[in-house]
Amino acid sequence: MKINKIVFLLPLVTLFFSACHSQTSKSGNAEADTVVLAPSFNEDSAFVFVQKQCEFGPRTMNSKAHDKCGDYLVATFKKYGATVTEQFADVKAFDGTVLKNRNIIASYNVDNGARILICSHWDSRPWADADPVEKNHKTPVMGANDGASGVAVMLELARQIQQKNINVGIDFICLDAEDYGTDNDEESWALGAQYWAANPHVAGYKARYGILLDMVGGQGARFMQEGFSLEYARSVVNKVWNAAEEAGYSSVFPRKQGGYITDDHGPINKIANIPTIDIIPYYEGTSCSFGPTWHTINDDVEHIDKSTLKAVGQTMMQVIYNEK
Ligand SMILES: [Zn+2]
Repeated sequence: MKINKIVFLLPLVTLFFSACHSQTSKSGNAEADTVVLAPSFNEDSAFVFVQKQCEFGPRTMNSKAHDKCGDYLVATFKKYGATVTEQFADVKAFDGTVLKNRNIIASYNVDNGARILICSHWDSRPWADADPVEKNHKTPVMGANDGASGVAVMLELARQIQQKNINVGIDFICLDAEDYGTDNDEESWALGAQYWAANPHVAGYKARYGILLDMVGGQGARFMQEGFSLEYARSVVNKVWNAAEEAGYSSVFPRKQGGYITDDHGPINKIANIPTIDIIPYYEGTSCSFGPTWHTINDDVEHIDKSTLKAVGQTMMQVIYNEK
């Protein structure tokens, strides 16, 4: 993923949003305000799912580790009771390389027409080209955070759903070929998402909304409201930030605007027309808003913070268990 532009809101505007929210909660009618507290998301389990993916090595496109991790994801979602569909396609990268793209879709309650889409990319970047040390720029990124963390949260949600069913259908989509892009070409990112959005796994596929999880396990991460998410799916942003507050994680999900990010939610919004948000960290006041390990050799399991996985995972639980 790539940063488009950074937009700062005045603190006053942020305060106004917060004030609006609490007022809405108080004045809303009792029925609409009935919120159930979701079961507990297990961050230790999610952390193990990060480790398992990283044990294969970097999941760079066209690599053996990528193949093996794909098989592991299919088997694990099946173990937790999902119906799994795979999409194989050759896609062309910016440098002409043909990438063996494999999107993996794990579905629950397949006959339910009311569906929620949750997605994350599962490939990892072949080059640590943001590493402070230049000799590392051609080393593959392990992608514990950038790739594995979002998939790990989806796997733990799947494990939870097998234990306690939800009222709607869910499709977890592991999107491939997100991170083979280059700075000077917008379209070079999110190739798996572009493919899926143009060729959904079910003809005429519809979902109420989508949530993209990207880099949801970093130390000290906070998640601000991403620009395109607000443009295309403001009500979904509000739903998720409200859920974070209900789950006790409003400090991890401040009601502030982050940057505009080129990511997998772009094609899902623009091509598939499903309002989709991006839950992606925004590190304020640092040289890289994605955090210090982004596209460096330090994006490894040692830099994953279980408390971040918990905050995001519990927020997601709060969202899906309140969907009617
Ligand atoms: Zn990346």
